[in-house]
Amino acid sequence: MTLTKIWLSSPHMGSNEQSFVEEAFRTNWIAPLGPNVSGFEKSIEDYLGNDVHVAALSSGTAAIHLGLKLLEVGPGDEVLCQSFTFSASANPITYLGARPVFIDSELETWNMSPELLEMAILQRLEAGVKPKAIIAVHLYGMPYKVGEIHAIGEKYGIPILEDSAEALGSSWAGQNCGTFGEIAILSFNGNKIITTSGGGALVSKDINKKEKAVFLATQARDNAPHYQHSEIGHNYRMSNVLAGIGRGQMEVLEDRVAGRRRNYRYYLEELNDIEGLSFLPEPQGMFSNRWLSCILTPSFAIREEIRKALANENIESRPLWKPMHLQPVFENVPSFADGTSEDLFERGLCLPSGSNLSLEDLERVIQIIKFTLE
Ligand SMILES: *Cc1c(COP(=O)(O)O)cnc(C)c1O
Repeated sequence: MTLTKIWLSSPHMGSNEQSFVEEAFRTNWIAPLGPNVSGFEKSIEDYLGNDVHVAALSSGTAAIHLGLKLLEVGPGDEVLCQSFTFSASANPITYLGARPVFIDSELETWNMSPELLEMAILQRLEAGVKPKAIIAVHLYGMPYKVGEIHAIGEKYGIPILEDSAEALGSSWAGQNCGTFGEIAILSFNGNKIITTSGGGALVSKDINKKEKAVFLATQARDNAPHYQHSEIGHNYRMSNVLAGIGRGQMEVLEDRVAGRRRNYRYYLEELNDIEGLSFLPEPQGMFSNRWLSCILTPSFAIREEIRKALANENIESRPLWKPMHLQPVFENVPSFADGTSEDLFERGLCLPSGSNLSLEDLERVIQIIKFTLE
């Protein structure tokens, strides 16, 4: 008998996604833009509050690419980017011919260290280069130190692109993640807290930025009866069919956040007493959607032992993100690293975290971890 697969983070549909998609079929609104796209954007705007404007796009990566363009990042520019993240945070810097400089993390949120950020800015200014933008990430749904990071951005006049791909539903000091940056981005990829199968969004308080993003995402067509272009554009808009899934998913977002937080609490209660295992608590004033529940083990060897034991039982788990400054593709990129994210990467493991996991699923995971460490 093969055991049922337990996934790391699988899609979890609500009850109305299909009817929004069917509506698109019924009205033949299969062509890219349509009422689901504007309806989806409106529902995200209402959810995030703070007078933001949202452009629904084909992916979170596309949103970062356009976001950096809107911040006027171009060839030869430098962008300071959190090293401890998924590669999609950093790749778009290179699409623009700009250069990343990677910044290591602090231990309270696992996100960009304000000290290392300021050190990097001072060093780059000293070298005669003013970084064009900062990409800060709310990793695994835990907000970065918003107050300190944004104070540094303001102090040196460097705009922040807030990578909130993993943090829809999280908040800092009562304000939703996705509303702090000059530009923020969201992702609706298949494994995120809610999904449109594939998709993303660009968020800004400045309506001109939203409009410019939509313009660039639809091939940068000038206002003329024929096809005329004065700028290079992209094909980055979200389709009306997929936006229908998104509208249904927005209806259940709060429930998905509650489900993921329940997973975290359950793991914490069951595993916290085990010698050597630790979790990332929420610092004062922060609320994490707990997109993925992560544990820190005592060593790389023990982490691997647990990961393999889970895999043997048909359970998917995953090491924490490998920092960008350790990636072969970014070998020659400068970094301000102090070993923090490298250590997290070596000892950390993401446990199954979908909001659709049953208590029996969680119990299976817990028993294997306990058994492995006994
Ligand atoms: C998923 C993710 C992205 C990219 O989003 P896609 O929609 O997959 O392109 C960017 N940054 C982080 C931190 C992510 O986890």
